[in-house]
Amino acid sequence: MQPFVPREYESVQTDVLVIGDGIAGLSCALTLAEYGIKPLVISRGKGNTYLSQGGIAAPIGENDSPKLHFLDTLRAGRLLNEEEAVRVATFEGERAILKLSSWGVNFDRKDTFYDLTLEAAHSRRRIFKVRDYTGRAIYEALHQKVKEKEIPLLKGELVEIYTDRGEVRGALVKTERGYTAFWVKALVLAVGGAASLFARNSNIQSIGGDGIGAALRAGAFLVDTEFVQFHPTVLAGTKNLISEAVRGEGALLVNDRGERFVDELAPRDVVARAIYSQLQKGRRVFLDLRPLVKRGIDLEERFPQIVSILREEGIDPRRELVPVEPAAHYFIGGIATDTYGRTAVRRLYAVGECACTGLHGANRLASNSLLEGVVFGMRAAEDIALHLPFWRVEKGKLTPTAGEEGFTLPQEEIKELRNLMWEGCGVVRNGERLEETLHRLDEKLGEYLPKRLESPEGRKFFDLLLVAKAVVLNALRREESRGCHFREDFPEEREPFRRRFEITLKEVLP
Ligand SMILES: Cc1cc2nc3c(=O)[nH]c(=O)nc-3n(C[C@H](O)[C@H](O)[C@H](O)COP(=O)(O)OP(=O)(O)OC[C@H]3O[C@@H](n4cnc5c(N)ncnc54)[C@H](O)[C@@H]3O)c2cc1C
Repeated sequence: MQPFVPREYESVQTDVLVIGDGIAGLSCALTLAEYGIKPLVISRGKGNTYLSQGGIAAPIGENDSPKLHFLDTLRAGRLLNEEEAVRVATFEGERAILKLSSWGVNFDRKDTFYDLTLEAAHSRRRIFKVRDYTGRAIYEALHQKVKEKEIPLLKGELVEIYTDRGEVRGALVKTERGYTAFWVKALVLAVGGAASLFARNSNIQSIGGDGIGAALRAGAFLVDTEFVQFHPTVLAGTKNLISEAVRGEGALLVNDRGERFVDELAPRDVVARAIYSQLQKGRRVFLDLRPLVKRGIDLEERFPQIVSILREEGIDPRRELVPVEPAAHYFIGGIATDTYGRTAVRRLYAVGECACTGLHGANRLASNSLLEGVVFGMRAAEDIALHLPFWRVEKGKLTPTAGEEGFTLPQEEIKELRNLMWEGCGVVRNGERLEETLHRLDEKLGEYLPKRLESPEGRKFFDLLLVAKAVVLNALRREESRGCHFREDFPEEREPFRRRFEITLKEVLP
């Protein structure tokens, strides 16, 4: 498909370009540096890594083993997981923790070992944490290390991926100084997920997911896109997540009649649907943290970030109930990769939340995504390091397509798309609503097909629409309920659907 090419751009050659400065991108960049390769990192700002609260799972505590973590992950994923990816992630947990520690992350300790915590659906205490701001601690440590290693990090936005005969040639990046076409030996996408496609979401980015669309247009394919994890407890009316670690410690869920209606430690999708159903009935739902106080837990000490967020919203969780609602949280599907981050396009890698190795299956086990970011970020770097001496930089041939430069995307369009996705493909789905949503997306895709070549904003919205359609199309295909995908017209798991659905560009074009 014809890519976006601006009329004027600067041309630069570099070995490896990494897009994204979250846990996946920086784990990849730091590992490359350890092999003597200095990548260039581009980011348009903080990603979800910075927001992670709970921690990172690794099966190295007492009585734990990679095998147990492997089984817990398969159970949560409703057996749709790619076993090889699960095996790799769980068996490399120890290496991930060691690496993060060597890069400067100081996980909480107890007298004799790390202070591991328990999260829903994990059969052992295996969550490494830094109080309740693990992601921020990781983000800051990795950035500090990147500075020390003098790895260049540039603020900019990936606009386009250039390929030729199934191979990556380069990427177009927009910075304050204008457009730069980077001609590379390898391009690593670590651009995070696309849960922000939904009106209610917990994600940091105002828009995420366009990088996934760009990869699809470049020839990669997507997989498992119907699986969007909805977090049950986001502070009502905000994006602020109240981690399930709070429920793990004994917080209760009650409605406005004071009634409990679900097992607080049931899997995320079960709790999210129970809350959704209460809200649909006109009830309000609250988290009650007061039982923790009664048990002598110092909320400020154990959950400093959550307490501070609630205080800012005028809520004192020691005395008051906390209103919550579900919100889109994690994008399980993404760019299809193997366990080295390799996509269908040669020398194009994808790691972290934007990628889909099949690790999570139909539902992500809590705290497995930070693990995924480190493990697959490191492995992609190793694969690149192995092959780089044999690769050359080859420039592509570009014909300018950019038309009216001044075009800016009306925020209304984004808002409309998000509402459409929330209403038509949210916590509870059905065939009729999905068909309608698909129809509306097709209309928009038709409108933006020419506009994508006019400006980066047009291109961005087109790419978001492609990803949105990939979500809806797979949600429609999956005529069953499995993991975090729930169809009220097919409320049970169905054996013929114990398979994964890939999406190619051809299927989502209008
Ligand atoms: C509130 C919250 C709490 C969470 N808590 C946990 C937890 O406790 N444990 C856990 O395992 N997981 C948790 N998660 C999930 C986890 O944070 C993410 O899955 C993980 O951090 C993703 O890392 P990443 O490196 O793939 O992407 P991110 O950290 O999201 O980084 C994406 C990067 O890509 C850049 N980017 C995106 N598009 C472009 C573009 N077009 N051009 C240039 N740059 C671009 C962004 O600027 C950013 O630098 C949580 C998520 C949220 C939202």
